[in-house]
Amino acid sequence: MSAGGDRVSGAGEPILRVAIDRKVYRAGASEPVEAVRGLAFTVERGEIVCLIGPSGAGKSTTLRILLGLDPDYEGRIEPDPRGAETSPGMVFQEPRLLPWRTVEQNVRLAMPRGRRGRDLDGLFDHLGLAPWRGRYPGALSLGMQRRVALARALADDPRLLVLDEPFVSLDDAAAASLRGLVVDTVDRLGMSVLMVTHNVAEAIAVADRLLLLSPRPASLVAEVRLDRPRSARDRAWADATRRDLAERHPGVIAD
Ligand code: ADP
Ligand code: MG
Repeated sequence: MSAGGDRVSGAGEPILRVAIDRKVYRAGASEPVEAVRGLAFTVERGEIVCLIGPSGAGKSTTLRILLGLDPDYEGRIEPDPRGAETSPGMVFQEPRLLPWRTVEQNVRLAMPRGRRGRDLDGLFDHLGLAPWRGRYPGALSLGMQRRVALARALADDPRLLVLDEPFVSLDDAAAASLRGLVVDTVDRLGMSVLMVTHNVAEAIAVADRLLLLSPRPASLVAEVRLDRPRSARDRAWADATRRDLAERHPGVIAD
């Protein structure tokens, strides 16, 4: 894998195939909620794929299903997440750190028991967390806590990193720096990323492919491949791409 984000992605080698025919939440006496209908896509090796859709569309539901956290759906995920040897690394919307454990313990406790003793110096250095290893999450800013959540997701060398709106409620600078770290890490390690966002500019900056989703129940409205190398994506290109998307998919992308 070459450095700098100019690698060729895709090449027809899916590491994940998602086909959710239907997902319905049935809770007690209330009306059933159909969250996903006929949503199918793949993620290929080394690729960054962004899922974009309105709030409440069914994006987090889709991620939970493909991670094997919700078996109650009609469809098929390949490889079967419950039988897989290595599970994807996951960063949820909230960092979800254990407040009574140090940064380092939070990262190690999420790893399979047999690998918890491994050397994590490189990871902590790369994420700028080395000085914080012995601190408790409460002493960290939200941006730093998100880095810990990212370290935790990366610690066991996953082939796929799944991110659910990982940069929300960060200021622009913190979001940009964390985003840069994610892109740099996946380019360096050659992993794939599936990221949910409703920040279109963010998706245009990092994605190899955009999957535009309808309002609930989530289904695929369009798939857009962004062929320009990440390092060559300047402001003018991003603005033009965004305008073009908004014209073609006015319901999904606002101007
Ligand atoms: P998104 O992540 O796109 O904002 P979600 O996948 O979280 O949307 O939710 C999709 C829809 O399913 C929403 O209408 C939400 O209220 C509903 N929903 C999510 N989780 C549950 C649940 N556990 N029980 C019932 N309804 C749910
Ligand atoms: Mg969500």
